[in-house]
Amino acid sequence: MRLLEGKNVIVTGASRGIGKGIAEVFAAHGANVAFTYSSSEAPALELEKELISKGVKAKAYKSNAASFSESEDLVAKILEDFEGIDVLINNAGITKDNLLMRMGEADFDTVIEINLKSVFNMTKAVQRTMLKQRKGSIINMSSVVGVKGNAGQANYAASKAGMIGFTKSIALELGSRNIRCNAIAPGFIETEMTAKLDDKVVQGWRDGIPLKRGGSPEDIANACLFFASDLSGYITGQVLNVDGGMLT
Ligand code: NAP
Repeated sequence: MRLLEGKNVIVTGASRGIGKGIAEVFAAHGANVAFTYSSSEAPALELEKELISKGVKAKAYKSNAASFSESEDLVAKILEDFEGIDVLINNAGITKDNLLMRMGEADFDTVIEINLKSVFNMTKAVQRTMLKQRKGSIINMSSVVGVKGNAGQANYAASKAGMIGFTKSIALELGSRNIRCNAIAPGFIETEMTAKLDDKVVQGWRDGIPLKRGGSPEDIANACLFFASDLSGYITGQVLNVDGGMLT
């Protein structure tokens, strides 16, 4: 069964990793996919071609999610290219890890702007369209680190915890208009973001996972599929840990 036939979806940060996995799974379920990247143009255009070959509409847009004005312009362009926006997935994110002692002000500000302010930028930019439609699903890519904290990631954990507060607030604000807002908290997912980590750190993460493996972008995409589709029509304001049991 195709769960998103004809739905228009925006995914931020889909040139690789989890965002790319979401774009692929959503296209396989019949969704038209507008997605962004920040600098990886060639992989983004490659993905655009791949999605179109699956028989859906797809387009890659270069846009810095941290910029309020770029996000507004982006959504205006997407509305010209696609009719309506049914789902927004705020997925773009970065890490700039360091112990507090060594974390510079710019490392803190950049992570907050790209991971958290971006969610405000994009949600605000799609709000009017979803209000008019009286329907929408917004999915924010938080992290288990936003739920439990992590030494060496104070900036990242603060941004991801902030996304959870934002998610619950938007769920309360927009629920009466049939706009749902949920967050996903992935655990250790094997992408370029985690490939940067030291082998010992990775082994430590894996050892702490009851299912004894790192997750794949597809594992996260499947959870997004549930929140994007009508299967979760009575669920809003929730945080779903997709972490192999890590936080259990
Ligand atoms: P990734 O492989 O590093 O990919 C990040 C994506 O975000 C890329 O497409 C990148 O585009 C895009 N991006 C970065 N800065 C951007 C900006 N300013 N504006 C627009 N796009 C931007 O990361 P990932 O592992 O797939 O993670 C995706 C999301 O899941 C992030 O929010 C991350 O915090 C969250 N998450 C990941 C894990 C994990 O274990 N991997 C765990 C929990 C949560 P370019 O390629 O153009 O740079």
